[in-house]
Amino acid sequence: MIIEPKTRGFICTTAHPEGCRENVRRQIEYVKSQPAIDSAQKVLVIGASAGYGLASRISMAFSGKAATIGIIFDKPASGKRTASAGWYNTAALEEFAHEEGLYAKTINGDAFSHAVKEETIALIKQDLGKVDMVIYSLAAPRRTMEDGTVYSSVLKTTGESYTNKTIDLASRKVSDVTIPPATEEEIANTVKVMGGEDWMDWIKALKEADAIEDSAVTVAYSYIGPELTHPMYTNGSIGMAKNHLFQTSKEISGQLGIEAYISVNKALVTQSSAAIPIVPLYITVLYKIMKEQGNHEGCIEQMYRLYHDKLQKDSVETDEEGMIRLDDLEMLPQVQDEVMKVWKTICDENIEQAADIDGYWEDFYRMFGFRLDNVDYAKDTDPNVDILSLK
Ligand code: NAD
Repeated sequence: MIIEPKTRGFICTTAHPEGCRENVRRQIEYVKSQPAIDSAQKVLVIGASAGYGLASRISMAFSGKAATIGIIFDKPASGKRTASAGWYNTAALEEFAHEEGLYAKTINGDAFSHAVKEETIALIKQDLGKVDMVIYSLAAPRRTMEDGTVYSSVLKTTGESYTNKTIDLASRKVSDVTIPPATEEEIANTVKVMGGEDWMDWIKALKEADAIEDSAVTVAYSYIGPELTHPMYTNGSIGMAKNHLFQTSKEISGQLGIEAYISVNKALVTQSSAAIPIVPLYITVLYKIMKEQGNHEGCIEQMYRLYHDKLQKDSVETDEEGMIRLDDLEMLPQVQDEVMKVWKTICDENIEQAADIDGYWEDFYRMFGFRLDNVDYAKDTDPNVDILSLK
């Protein structure tokens, strides 16, 4: 069939297999053009099919030559529906890995569940013995507990309601938006979904099953950003969950003896970040400035730099609180001073000059495998693609 993008709000309900494959190929090409990562060799990536998790897996596999197991929650094609982008990304990743003789297997299911943890542990024990790195990169809107209770995360501020500028990316119009504060229950639910409880459960389960090396490291991802995003992020409901994630890193290190780190990453267009109010306007301004200054990075550049430069085998570069700061370039005064200057005056009249809206849309469509210059979208394409290890 001819596969075209069908967008609804922040999501695209179709994905292009050839485009997703090309995205993965380009990320592999990038890490292979850089000096090799010398790090863990048996890596479990939880949330491995898109964004930062996919880029982490590509970095560790194709630069670090690690064996990888990826946990994904994606849908294959069915009837006239294409598969999800994460499905196609993973199919391509495994195909490229096998071509290079690299071990790469995938489990498709809910990472929060006991069943997926058990299945993963059985696979590790059967194929790898133990893992020496666990990358926790879940970005989930909800979590279903074993008893069927469902917790949903919210993207709201806390305390007082908060008003600031936002952008409707479709109409390219800037307007004020007021974000209501989350209730105590909504905050607790967001912490349940995006906090550290499940990360802790994973490491505990691996440890109890003797499926993780004592010398292993584990890393989860967070965001801090500048003051203008604090009411929505750091001091918002998601920030409360990220605080919990940070506390959990201390508990994993202290109680389980597995070195656990938080890497504070740059704000980027992914399926998750597009849904946060105010943040997309900030991202478009940030992109414009960082591209002009020549210090813009995408997921793959960030993750390569994490595993090559910051989280090395024998030395880990952290700030005084113990967090790895991959947002170092985003937070440079030369970047943030410029963002603030632009933010004060941004409006419908100057939006095209002040913000990189085209760049945003380019990244958005690419996440689903569209608008890549070397993919023939007019060609009849089979949406049914297998992931080798799930065949
Ligand atoms: P993403 O939406 O691109 O990827 C999330 C991944 O999690 C996908 O592979 C998805 O399939 C998987 N997933 C979701 N629910 C799952 C489940 N129940 N079981 C198994 N897999 C599941 O998100 P992202 O932006 O790459 O976010 C990853 C992490 O990075 C998050 O912790 C996020 O807060 C953090 N982060 C993101 C940004 C940003 O700007 N995007 C910045 C800093 C930190």
